Amino acid sequence: MQFDLRKFIVSGTKPYAAEFQCDLSAKDFAGARIEQPVTARFEAVPDGEEIRMTLRANALVHGECARCLDPVEREETVQAEWTVRERDLDDPDFDLPLNEKGHLDVDEWLCQEFMFQIPTVLLCSADCPGLCPRCGKKMAECTCPPAEAEAEPADARLAILKSLLN
Ligand SMILES: [Zn+2]
Ligand SMILES: [Zn+2]
Repeated sequence: MQFDLRKFIVSGTKPYAAEFQCDLSAKDFAGARIEQPVTARFEAVPDGEEIRMTLRANALVHGECARCLDPVEREETVQAEWTVRERDLDDPDFDLPLNEKGHLDVDEWLCQEFMFQIPTVLLCSADCPGLCPRCGKKMAECTCPPAEAEAEPADARLAILKSLLN
């Protein structure tokens, strides 16, 4: 969705609200994806010389656990607020995606907000034990013998050294 922010700042008198669908399925959020179209709500409220804008959305994020590589699904909520004045539109450091006509790209803004919101490391659970470093299976499925075997150096040369020390 595009919003003519310059025009609204100059001549907007009444609050504006819109619900829109946004397809973010082609975007990559640090390895995670938002597969379903997202329903977002955008509002712009004139307040003296300023415009208060809010953007809200929920999305189901699909990724994989950084430890055990299992699929992870989690709900993320974006709730962003921004106050803007006319002079901000000509500020080269203005952070929102604006084109040269002063149109705000609300889809792109939503995408940026999800970028901030979605953790770069997803876990299936906070205490996921991950994969066994020896067999590569999940810890729950691993049948490796317990630590004992590990105390024996795997490298034959180290084993000789160890026997000399004994
Ligand atoms: Zn996991
Ligand atoms: Zn194992």
